[in-house]
Amino acid sequence: MDFKKLFRPHIYNLKPYSSARDEYSGKEGVFLDANENPYGSVAEGDFNRYPDPYQREIKEKLGKLKRVDTGQIFLGNGSDEPIDLIIKATCEPNESEMIIMPPTYGMYQVCADIQQAVVVKANLTPDFEIDQKAVETAISPKTKLIWICSPNNPSGNSLDQTVMLDMIQKYPEILFIIDEAYGDFSTEESMISRIAKFQNIMVLQTFSKAWGMAGLRVGVAYAHTELIAILNKIKYPYNLNIATQGYVLKALDNVDAMYEFVSRISENRDLLAQEIIKLRATEKVFPSDSNQLLVKFRNAKALFQKLLENKIIVRDRSNVTLCEDCLRISVGTKEENSILIEALKRLSE
Ligand SMILES: *Cc1c(COP(=O)(O)O)cnc(C)c1O
Repeated sequence: MDFKKLFRPHIYNLKPYSSARDEYSGKEGVFLDANENPYGSVAEGDFNRYPDPYQREIKEKLGKLKRVDTGQIFLGNGSDEPIDLIIKATCEPNESEMIIMPPTYGMYQVCADIQQAVVVKANLTPDFEIDQKAVETAISPKTKLIWICSPNNPSGNSLDQTVMLDMIQKYPEILFIIDEAYGDFSTEESMISRIAKFQNIMVLQTFSKAWGMAGLRVGVAYAHTELIAILNKIKYPYNLNIATQGYVLKALDNVDAMYEFVSRISENRDLLAQEIIKLRATEKVFPSDSNQLLVKFRNAKALFQKLLENKIIVRDRSNVTLCEDCLRISVGTKEENSILIEALKRLSE
């Protein structure tokens, strides 16, 4: 892929902010370079120093875990940050196009609207597979990005990697962004294994779901070093704070705990699906490869309201493309799930 053509010229040529901590990355020394408070913090904890702008320790560990080079990793304030940055870096307002596949994650459209990137929609099929023909019809010389969310939000299923790879090879000048926010739950292999071979792939993952760290805000982008270098150039210099970086480092020493959560949640999901399918109000439970179940109910809107009155909060997706009468249910603990099931039994009588 011609990276120079992918990026907006002024971004490609941008001279980034050079922070004090860019020039010296050691931990020992007399630090009189960043106008910090030398004594400590008013808040409890050691927060008086600026954090590492490139999160090198985290990338060392994450690189080993994911089998990629540190230069192929970008860390952001949630995956929302790389989503926003890659649109900013590639899309000229009111000119460049990006393709999304509804029903899909809402942030792609929002970030595009902020940047005034032109969004072209190629809906998934009714059973939430990639409609390759629709996508290829939507492609134009102005297409910069194609967004693929797999496992998909809100439908929960994984999309067909054969179709993805076919298009990735056919359109080497378009960047395919594979959002694997739910990849930890998935039985499919991650597309990270393909970034060595294909320059036009960016894979997004997050610590917000299986890792249980949504409140800390950490998302990751994996891609060719040239793509990652541009994201690093345009991010805020200190986009991950010291507290967050510390927690991520500790979490990476305890990967087994994440796998443990995944197996518990997946088991709960399957039990929950079995119970929901038995209910009179249920029309269909869509197959899920993640921690969410999309369910088609008779009269979803009314049911959603009744659940709310009972302080059970699910996501009403009934107005979303291809999701008529559907509610999206995040898989909870066994206890939470049985509270939901009991309520659904009562309310749907
Ligand atoms: C939850 C989610 C994310 C994660 O966003 P963060 O900013 O990392 O919390 C990304 N993509 C999809 C599709 C999601 O559902």
